[in-house]
Amino acid sequence: MENPTGVAAQIIKAAAFAAAKHRNQRRKDAEASPYINHPIALADVLANEGGIADPSVLCAAILHDTIEDTQTTPAELERHFGRHVASIVLEVTDDKSLEKQVRKQRQIERAPHSSREARLVKLADKICNLRDLLSSPPADWSSERKRAYLDWSDQVVAGLRGTHPGLEAVFDGLLARRDELG
Ligand code: NDP
Ligand code: ZN
Repeated sequence: MENPTGVAAQIIKAAAFAAAKHRNQRRKDAEASPYINHPIALADVLANEGGIADPSVLCAAILHDTIEDTQTTPAELERHFGRHVASIVLEVTDDKSLEKQVRKQRQIERAPHSSREARLVKLADKICNLRDLLSSPPADWSSERKRAYLDWSDQVVAGLRGTHPGLEAVFDGLLARRDELG
């Protein structure tokens, strides 16, 4: 991914790959938005709010939910995008064989030990999900559940602090809107 044409091609390839993998999925908001909006939002946050130009981080952001939420395998990502991108996606992938509360606790515990690339993707994921929670939350969530999600996100991001002060400030701006959750 050295020359500019190669970088653009790689990012477009990741977008096309993720769009195909998530093609039948929807987000949990009342309008059931297309799932692909979310991975693209992560890359947008990283590139255009965080100034991140590292193509491996941008590709991993676009691909971040493919292993967790589709049939995509790590080997498949490695074949198409290389070992480095695949390893970042794996770092941000929950083990769905574990019980939900264990998975949530594991995210808190793992955050500080992740690579910088994975920490950036995680931070963007939490920013995008809090934005969704504020603007287009899951239709059936009570205000208590939304607040619990915000508190948990805060705990995960506590372990990511020092990675990117600008994006952490964006996250803090969303936390400060807690009262809008009802
Ligand atoms: P879920 O994991 O079930 O749902 C949140 C995830 O859904 C996000 O991380 C995001 O994941 C995805 N998502 C899709 N659409 C949206 C959207 N519009 N807005 C935000 N996220 C979206 O939630 P949790 O289990 O984390 O529940 C939240 C909190 O509530 C937890 O702290 C839990 O303990 C508590 N809880 C409460 C229950 C209750 O009935 N009161 C029941 C279960 C949990 P991604 O980026 O991967 O797509
Ligand atoms: Zn996500």
